[in-house]
Amino acid sequence: MFEGLPVRGMLVRLTGAWTDILTRREQSGGYPAAVQELLGEMTAAATLMQANIKFNGALIMQIMGDGPVKLAVAEVQPDLSLRATATVLGEVAGDAPLSHMVNVNNQGRCAITLDPKDRQPGQQPYQGVVPLFGDRHEKLEKLSEVIEHYMLQSEQLDTRLVLAANDKVAAGLLIQRLPLQGEANLAGAGAVAKDEDQIGLNEDYNRIAILAASLKREELLELDAETILRRLFWEEDVRRFEPLVGDEGPRFACTCSRERVGNMLRSLGREEIESIIAEQGQVEVGCDFCGAMYRFDPIEAAQVFLQPAIQPPAPDGMH
Ligand SMILES: [Zn+2]
Repeated sequence: MFEGLPVRGMLVRLTGAWTDILTRREQSGGYPAAVQELLGEMTAAATLMQANIKFNGALIMQIMGDGPVKLAVAEVQPDLSLRATATVLGEVAGDAPLSHMVNVNNQGRCAITLDPKDRQPGQQPYQGVVPLFGDRHEKLEKLSEVIEHYMLQSEQLDTRLVLAANDKVAAGLLIQRLPLQGEANLAGAGAVAKDEDQIGLNEDYNRIAILAASLKREELLELDAETILRRLFWEEDVRRFEPLVGDEGPRFACTCSRERVGNMLRSLGREEIESIIAEQGQVEVGCDFCGAMYRFDPIEAAQVFLQPAIQPPAPDGMH
């Protein structure tokens, strides 16, 4: 918190949680460096967003690309356990910019989905979608800019994000202007302007956002939180909270299960499953997030259709 100012910040530094994701991918060849960087930035950003809104359900950030990276997904649960994966078809240069990976024809999209924990049958998750271009249709080359657009649209709040990732660390810094409601007694209830009228106008926020934006990629990756905050905000009155680490902090965990795979098979339909069995003798489903492999022999596959349908599974990360 910035004492007395309508500004808050949050810093995330994923180490083991991030390398767990990369290690699981190594058995199938790993990611090209540029994809690794994109997925790491998405994972850091999704963690910041989940911690920021404290939503009681999964926060899922997806990029549906129109280039060699068809899909990239980072998913963070309310307890900050997380997983991420990307589907890459074709070559990606090590230093490929964002648009070469996911926005070749300006058709790429970024979706943020909030999937409530106890979703009722028929209830839809909330989803917001933003393009990967700016106000003049120029291709955005930073994921942070895409997400800043999303936050401005969905929350009407100024947000500044700095993101970086390599093969060891995925990190991010978020600075956000607080909504005005909390200040009603200072300004007088009638004097409180709408949050959206304040966009870009709060001087305290603007000053702190400019300081945050001066943070270099290498600094974010290599320095600890204490040092980063001291270097950027040494003139500000910052109140720090205890970092969330270990079982309370961000960590890798996959939510896949045999039951969920069974639901997915059921949604494909009996005919489709029978044709796979006729061809291959069994059904094999792999989880792209954790590498788990689920096998159903003909009897097990038939049993799937004896259970009543529950709800359609999320269309994610299974092949
Ligand atoms: Zn899994």
